[in-house]
Amino acid sequence: MRILDLRSDTVTKPTKEMRDAMYCAEVGDAVLGDDPTVEKLEAMGAELFGKEACLMTASGTMSNQAAVLSMTSRGDQIVVHDRSHIYNLEVAALAQICGVQARAIPTTDGRYDLGVLEENLVSAAIQTAPTTLVCMENTLDLNRGLVVSKTHIDEVCAAAHSRSVPVYMDGARILNAAVAMDIAPAALCENTDVVSLCLSKGLACPIGSLLAGPREVIEKAKRMRQMLGGGWRQAGVVAAAGIVALNGYDRLAEDHEKARTLAAELKEMGLGIDMEQVQTNIVKIDTEPVGLTALEFCKELQDRGILAKPIGKYAVRMICHIDIAAADIALVLKSVKRVIEA
Ligand SMILES: *Cc1c(COP(=O)(O)O)cnc(C)c1O
Repeated sequence: MRILDLRSDTVTKPTKEMRDAMYCAEVGDAVLGDDPTVEKLEAMGAELFGKEACLMTASGTMSNQAAVLSMTSRGDQIVVHDRSHIYNLEVAALAQICGVQARAIPTTDGRYDLGVLEENLVSAAIQTAPTTLVCMENTLDLNRGLVVSKTHIDEVCAAAHSRSVPVYMDGARILNAAVAMDIAPAALCENTDVVSLCLSKGLACPIGSLLAGPREVIEKAKRMRQMLGGGWRQAGVVAAAGIVALNGYDRLAEDHEKARTLAAELKEMGLGIDMEQVQTNIVKIDTEPVGLTALEFCKELQDRGILAKPIGKYAVRMICHIDIAAADIALVLKSVKRVIEA
């Protein structure tokens, strides 16, 4: 039985073109700056985001932590979204590794309330630690994939910059956001000081992340990456896949189209879906209207070769990606119909 795995876009496997590029990649010792394929990917990343410099790291988590280590000092405070990955899903590295205190601000629709943000830009005083970084995420919330607009990013950057606080964008899925809004990544990140990107999600690379920003910050991040154990040698084997991915990232539009089709049809069947929140490749499903818990729903689907991720008592996530063809969506829908009717 062929398994259709919609739990995440991290399950995507490198394409044939990537594997060929990896096989043929010219490599060298990247820690010594001798790997031409890594250098090429980093140059592409800098250009993509309109930044001076770029660094390839092993993972989104490593990029996030290297960025915070490079942009803050121990004992500082930083602002994060309460639903963000950097705050919830990185083993408290902000506390354990960076030694900063996170001020988590609630969010409902992916936006910071600017008034609340400003209250959290704290100045150093006898009893207070200064806020020295504002973190954003785009797309925001790994269970929804909400697009954060350039307008909102720019107003957050303006508020932070007026207090001389830089902005870091965790852009694990930022190319999904850029494609969904039909805007160039460099334009979207124009005012964001530093930005990251995951190569190993919808972009289908096996490993890797990029971190782009001012040369001074990226030089520091390179040392922090080394400290985190992320100095790698013939990493061109990995970078080669990234080059293929960046050359063809417009295909993410197909994943968004599949997600919209999937969501609309699931809604027709009676499942709870907020179509306004289906903005990229992620579909959040409420199973309560059909009388099944998330675990029951996922178990029944699994028996039919479809994998989805339970994310709450009645909440399930499905993510569309390169290894789920448009025609596979029909198979998913057929199985869901059987599960609901059973
Ligand atoms: C996946 C993800 C990360 C972490 O990436 P890894 O490569 O899994 O470490 C960070 N931030 C966001 C928003 C993500 O979705």
